Amino acid sequence: MYANVIVDITHEKLDKIFQYRVPSRLEGELSVGMEVMVPFGKGNRQTKGYVVGFSEICDYDLSKVKEVGEISRSSVAIEGKLVALAAWMKEHYGGTMIQALKTVLPIKQKEQAKMKKKVRLLLNEEEGRKKLDFYLNKNQRARARLLAALLDEPVLDYELINKKLNITLSVVRALEEQGILVLESEQVFRNPVKQRTQEVKKIIFTEEQRKAIDIFWEDYRKKHYGTYLVHGVTGSGKTEVYIEMIRRVAECGRQAIVLIPEIALTFQTVMRFYRCFGDRVSIMNSRLSAGERYDQMMRAKNGEVDVMIGPRSALFTPFPNLGLIVIDEEHEGAYKSEQIPRYHARETAQARAEMEGASLVLGSATPSLESMYRAKSGEYRLLELKNRSGQQTLAKVYTVNLCQELKNGNRSILSEKLQKLMEDRLQKKEQIMLFLNRRGYAGFVSCRGCGYVVKCPHCDVSLSFHRGGKMVCHYCGYEERKPVICPECGSKHIGEFRAGTQQIEEIVKQRFPEARVLRMDLDTTKEKNGHEKILAAFANEEADILVGTQMIVKGHDFPNVTLVGVLAADMSLYSDDYRAGERTFQLLTQAEGRAGRGTKEGEAVIQTYSPEHYAITTAAAQDYEAFYREEIRYRELMGYPPVENLLAVLASCKDEAHLEKGCAYLKEYILRICKREEVDVIGPAAPGIGKINDIYRKVLYLKTERYDTLVKIKNRLEQYIELNSGFNTIRIQFDFNPMNVF
Ligand code: ADP
Ligand code: ZN
Ligand code: ZN
Repeated sequence: MYANVIVDITHEKLDKIFQYRVPSRLEGELSVGMEVMVPFGKGNRQTKGYVVGFSEICDYDLSKVKEVGEISRSSVAIEGKLVALAAWMKEHYGGTMIQALKTVLPIKQKEQAKMKKKVRLLLNEEEGRKKLDFYLNKNQRARARLLAALLDEPVLDYELINKKLNITLSVVRALEEQGILVLESEQVFRNPVKQRTQEVKKIIFTEEQRKAIDIFWEDYRKKHYGTYLVHGVTGSGKTEVYIEMIRRVAECGRQAIVLIPEIALTFQTVMRFYRCFGDRVSIMNSRLSAGERYDQMMRAKNGEVDVMIGPRSALFTPFPNLGLIVIDEEHEGAYKSEQIPRYHARETAQARAEMEGASLVLGSATPSLESMYRAKSGEYRLLELKNRSGQQTLAKVYTVNLCQELKNGNRSILSEKLQKLMEDRLQKKEQIMLFLNRRGYAGFVSCRGCGYVVKCPHCDVSLSFHRGGKMVCHYCGYEERKPVICPECGSKHIGEFRAGTQQIEEIVKQRFPEARVLRMDLDTTKEKNGHEKILAAFANEEADILVGTQMIVKGHDFPNVTLVGVLAADMSLYSDDYRAGERTFQLLTQAEGRAGRGTKEGEAVIQTYSPEHYAITTAAAQDYEAFYREEIRYRELMGYPPVENLLAVLASCKDEAHLEKGCAYLKEYILRICKREEVDVIGPAAPGIGKINDIYRKVLYLKTERYDTLVKIKNRLEQYIELNSGFNTIRIQFDFNPMNVF
């Protein structure tokens, strides 16, 4: 028996696995993830290593193979636990052990210490309030916002102000010149933001909130560590509930990780955690350098912090005694990694929580089908917050049938209703957001006369329009020519559904020449900080209307926005993907939530060619339960996740003919090894992008009830590929329950 060992993993050079003989005294005791001492190098220096696997055969010269020394029992094996998690990830998502290790282990890189800028308030409370009134009266909103934040917290990180409050350097400089604040540099190697802890705002939990906390806590006290799904509308107090749960867990001397999608990691949210946990909380984000990130990880490992907040990768914080993982906005696609290993943070968090004896709390206003399915089956405990804690009411929603508009002679993308409401808001000097929920480039084909959409006869997803007039199913490869007239109503207005933000901007400017319009999409956000600049300008009310893609509906609060228009809800509805309905429901719900965040009431207009579609009717009614019932029926019928599991096998190769042959072999092999099991093999199909950089791509889909069946097949395929030299030039990647089709 031989142990595969990775030596010295805290440095970047972990590119090689070494084999060591397992002495008989350690047989049966040694397992994956264990920290061991092994002789290394010419001098046989005893070096720390991690066991990442075992094999029966040795690939090296047997006479030169050394023996595993001892199992280290000294330190708390934090890395050991993460190595075990990496092994779990490799098994569940494919890829190599090294790729998995690089994902989970903090890796040291030499970095120069960074200078970080801080803004410090120089005025006292009274002077500050006076000045704040002055700015508000003069309608200097950016200045007012900055000062209000500083009155809450007198020292703020410049990054935070710039990125989360959307305040530019020139505003900071202007206030500095007036002697209101100073901008100072500080060398940072500790906490990226060091704050004074403030008195925590005492809140009295509502009945629902208290119940959620009690249920969680009763289990926790009895060491029943489980998974909980907090389903609560925005503003129902989910964050307050998380904070209370974390507070109690921290009191027991254990640590917590809070995952929040980066885009939703707003200044206000971060401050709420600081107010409660002060210096014991740390944030991780993509703007930290590799060195800073490593520092944060080390602080966590050394017990200097109790709470780590961050996006997906914060899940791997090396806490010595992890007690709780919270995943907010758990439905977000950003929790799935698009790099190998293509892990989902939700499932990986569950695995980590189980390994370490911790609980997992998921939260969302629109839970993923996966999580709600598991909650309903009893695997997760459902905690519901049905009411908003404050006075805010939900937006009033109107649905407009675009086919009807066309019949009424309105050929504009702005319906009568939307135009009327826009006029009203412009007059009242309130702001408007127009939202085009379009993703990707492969357009579907639909009829403007009746809303008919061309779908695949085998997969019940829409066909994608390809250049040259072909329509293709990205699941099974089915092809058909684009019809000339609509098979439903005979209209000639059938074609690829396309409308861009730029077009919309022009239409809006023509219709409302007096309005100030901003556009936010991939084009206008290309330059550095383009994204922030546009949001800052809109927050400062330098524009009346913001036109944009889905990047405008997530995570931003603009209190003066009282009207949201979704221009063509169908755009996300008929993407060629079984999650289209779910995504549409989530996007529409989020868009509706943008209207009326302040004290004024909000309205939303949903324009659509399919006003009867359940994703649209239920989103308009803001009825998650009704949406879930319909959507799960469709998933059951078609055998899509979460009811069954899907594995995408993506193959790519320079030589198209060779790739086709390889895929045929793969399919044949799969059919041979899983004859007995109930596995559907679909494809090989051309993915949405059939060629990237002259490398051709094909995809096979495997569908079956049990996830572990797919894991077994993946393992067999990995062996098969390894042993067949024909696959040397074909790259194979696995994606379990993919978020997007390829
Ligand atoms: P969510 O995370 O579900 O969107 P939050 O936790 O952000 O909700 O709560 C929305 C607002 O309501 C916050 O300002 C929060 O402090 C406040 N809030 C929540 N619960 C209570 C409560 N029981 N009493 C007073 N204020 C509350
Ligand atoms: Zn038609
Ligand atoms: Zn199909």
